[in-house]
Amino acid sequence: MTPLLHSYAAGRWYTAPDEGTPLHSAVDGSVVARISATGLDVAGMVEHARAVGGPALAALTFHGRAAALKALALRLLEHKDEFYALSTATGATSRDSAVDIDGGIGTLLSYASKARRELPNDTVYLDGPAEQLGKRGTFAGQHIYTSRRGVAVQINAFNFPVWGFLEKLAPAFIAGVPSIVKPASQTAYLTELVVRRIIESGLLPEGSLQLVCGGTGDLLDHLGGQDSVAFTGSADTAALLRAHPAVLHNGVSFNAEADSLNASILGADVTPESPEFALFVKQLVTEMTVKAGQKCTAIRRALVPEALVDAVIAAASERLAKVVVGAPDADGVTMGALASLDQREEVRKSVRALAKTSQIVFGDPDAVAVTGADQNTGAFISPILLRCTDHDAIEPHEVEAFGPVSTIIGYRDTADVIELAARGKGSLVASIVTADTGMAREIVLGLAPYHGRILVLDTEDAKESTGHGSPLPVLVHGGPGRAGGGEELGGIRGVLHHMQRTAIQGTPAVLTAVGRRWVTGAERVSGQVHPFRKNLAELRLGDTIVNGPRPVTLADIEHFAEFTGDTFYAHTDPVAAAANPLFGGIVAHGYLVVSLAAGLFVDPAPGPVLANFGVDNLRFLTPVKAEDALTVTLTAKQITPRAGANYGEVRWDATVTNQHDQPVATYDVLTLVAKPEGDAQ
Ligand code: NDP
Repeated sequence: MTPLLHSYAAGRWYTAPDEGTPLHSAVDGSVVARISATGLDVAGMVEHARAVGGPALAALTFHGRAAALKALALRLLEHKDEFYALSTATGATSRDSAVDIDGGIGTLLSYASKARRELPNDTVYLDGPAEQLGKRGTFAGQHIYTSRRGVAVQINAFNFPVWGFLEKLAPAFIAGVPSIVKPASQTAYLTELVVRRIIESGLLPEGSLQLVCGGTGDLLDHLGGQDSVAFTGSADTAALLRAHPAVLHNGVSFNAEADSLNASILGADVTPESPEFALFVKQLVTEMTVKAGQKCTAIRRALVPEALVDAVIAAASERLAKVVVGAPDADGVTMGALASLDQREEVRKSVRALAKTSQIVFGDPDAVAVTGADQNTGAFISPILLRCTDHDAIEPHEVEAFGPVSTIIGYRDTADVIELAARGKGSLVASIVTADTGMAREIVLGLAPYHGRILVLDTEDAKESTGHGSPLPVLVHGGPGRAGGGEELGGIRGVLHHMQRTAIQGTPAVLTAVGRRWVTGAERVSGQVHPFRKNLAELRLGDTIVNGPRPVTLADIEHFAEFTGDTFYAHTDPVAAAANPLFGGIVAHGYLVVSLAAGLFVDPAPGPVLANFGVDNLRFLTPVKAEDALTVTLTAKQITPRAGANYGEVRWDATVTNQHDQPVATYDVLTLVAKPEGDAQ
């Protein structure tokens, strides 16, 4: 008998005692695997995640977790062929598998890179600057994020067995929260294989990833206020889980991505001859056929100016006629199968519902020529294009045919297309194809409240565009209303969903100690040794150099103007400068002030400071006139060792004041500073 899939629970692979349910190949109906979670100790899994996985992740900084994730991604790439081979059974062509497998591994890499660049080498993330709360500067506030102490339960849909769990795992892992992954049964064999390779790699701390193959049983009953459930699938299941007592009464955080009637809009500026027309049609057909249209982001509604409906149907039909449906690995096949015969029945049912107010203009839901496989045993279906015949029809905005199915709907004007798109009651994504930036703004602003992501496509970005249907790790994925009201990915935003934001109030010294970022008002230490002579291990938050006063002369200003070519009148023309309401006379260039400040704070000899890589938050606060005198105070604000390099980043608080102690300029100086010799950890 075909073997059972295993769950990975509390550090070991679990095999159910029964025969389980057979999972059939989408292509030929053969049994690929069997699935059962009978007897699985889900309560033990939750406990294991909290007791073993959470503490193991907490012992790593964001950078440590990022390094593990990157190593894992590189390891998974070595197994790609094996994943692709099994992916075929889900009905996926190699183009489809790339979206799922390479897309998933790419998401790991993206999160690893973002975390290293945008998060500190710490376990605490600071949200915004400190807020001064008292006049004397002894009382301040700082928002911080810390990892929740629970488990992230991830329930995924059948259409992306690899990307679906990796895109949820990556942000949770970086956040320091262990995951329990539950793939949709239909394609769980591919998820199980990838998880098996992950566990074998030993690259993730034990307990940070567990797997449920089969039903979740009473898993949710064991969750509480530190735990989360992230769900992707049907609106019905989303509604069921949203109403679960653990979510309603135990404070479990719940995130859903459900059905989405995504729209693609052809701008009214476009004619059949303009290149945007071809872009629109090509994108429509691509979105209909990739993954056989089984993408939560696929285009279900094509909104087209009424006068262009016929032309779009003709052009799309011409392209659709070239689609070759069949076994994913057969020569020439461009569209594979749906995930199962049941799914095909669902799609046919949806097409029948859509056909109440639309006419099928391409394809036949009940018949398709199939290459390299048997039409009866595989879940094949033709691409289906419909034309909505009733402008006020409800069906195209309500019925999600989760397959290669789109409906063309004519619109009258900009207000009408915005209103039609909103009838989807909230979608993951919309796209607008137009060459008119003014029209793009009007439609984008009309659509934005109803959408999680909007792509504006034209000839300039078409070559580089990642397309309507691709959620990207750095951009948010999710949508309001019918789309589930959830949000995933979005770079570091996705990490923060798993962390708790807390406002900390206290003295600057306390905030400095908690956040490991020096806060104005905390102690400054000006010792014998210039801070630039200290390596990363020697330097302490609060280490300070104060130098000045340095008079600024008119000759300095004239010299700087001539030398740099910045002869703006406020620095060179006394009469014009006098008329300037802010200056009332010649003032020094802001960049002169910053340059003089650097001259005051640097220690020139070779030493541990390797480079200045920028400044942040530069503000010029008080104009500097000739004969003013500048003093600079430079304080070590944040010290971030870089893993695997023999240096780290140091952020310095720089304040330049004049002879009246007024702040003239404030900014953060960013430098790279060497670690002690031989330390590259
Ligand atoms: P389901 O909602 O049935 O299943 C999604 C996931 O939820 C699966 O892992 C499923 O597990 C699990 N699940 C189902 N019931 C429960 C429960 N009571 N408790 C815990 N977990 C549960 O969706 P399908 O995957 O079957 O897809 C059905 C439809 O959903 C599609 O036809 C499409 O319309 C829509 N869909 C939308 C997506 C989107 O992102 N917008 C993506 C995929 C589908 P199991 O498989 O073991 O039942």
